[in-house]
Amino acid sequence: MASVFHAYHSPLPYFPYKWQRSHPPRPSVSFPSSSFSRRCQSDARFMATRVKAAASTTPDGRALQVGIAEFYDKSSGLWEDIWGDHMHHGFYDPDSNVSGTDHRAAQIRMIEESLRFAGISEDPAKQPKRIVDVGCGIGGSSRYLARKYGAECQGITLSQVQAGRANVLAKAEGLADNVSFQVADALNQPFPDGQFDLVWSMESGEHMPEKAKFVNELVRVAAPGGTIIIVTWCHRDLGPSEESLQPWEKKLLNRICNAYYLPEWCSTSDYVKLLQSLSLQM
Ligand code: SAH
Repeated sequence: MASVFHAYHSPLPYFPYKWQRSHPPRPSVSFPSSSFSRRCQSDARFMATRVKAAASTTPDGRALQVGIAEFYDKSSGLWEDIWGDHMHHGFYDPDSNVSGTDHRAAQIRMIEESLRFAGISEDPAKQPKRIVDVGCGIGGSSRYLARKYGAECQGITLSQVQAGRANVLAKAEGLADNVSFQVADALNQPFPDGQFDLVWSMESGEHMPEKAKFVNELVRVAAPGGTIIIVTWCHRDLGPSEESLQPWEKKLLNRICNAYYLPEWCSTSDYVKLLQSLSLQM
């Protein structure tokens, strides 16, 4: 069972994904080793679904977007109370036993490990200066990255409540000149081509109904030489003789999809194939 429950209770091959966009040839991709594993903190998103009321829409197309927006409009306040700035999982050492308060530190560690994994330079001259945070929540990553790198950061989310809250927090933290948030669709981003030297997607890819369009859009807004980091939920890779997940696995994942407004899942190797098809550099 744990093997499909990657995002929740098992060491997960969920997908910290990095590639670099180079000059003319396009970005490079690299993959996590199996030691890039972590367990999630307790299931904050699951708690949030209890607040969700009965916004029942078919998880596809526009209905999916509306469902996601409503879901986060209603639940973000609760998560902020529990988890603070970040709505993603923490990064934990295998077999670590952390207390409640350590979970927020583990979320920061997830950001740091993702940057490290992607090989983002510590050299100030090479650090990212223009960042987009795709699926930004209440902007925790944006503010963290803007502060860390002295960068400008723009965040997009489907939730009006999240965008509003993220802007309020940026102002309160003295970051309003560098960081801003708006409601926009990751599959149709309101940015010209080649704008950002870091394209950041932390636990938003699992919401995207068209992974190819999602990835293409991330590539489109990346500047030549820029880096794209995707950390997302994936199901296990299929074996050589398998054409799909087992029925019981699909059933389980469907329950998660319905609870969290997620479309069908894909595997890490599906992402890899997608990115390879775009001739990205690993
Ligand atoms: N990255 C944030 C939030 C993760 S929660 C963090 O780590 O704290 C998932 C986020 O993805 C939410 O903000 C949700 O609005 C956003 N999202 C989902 N689908 C989206 C889409 N199509 N376009 C833009 N944002 C989207």
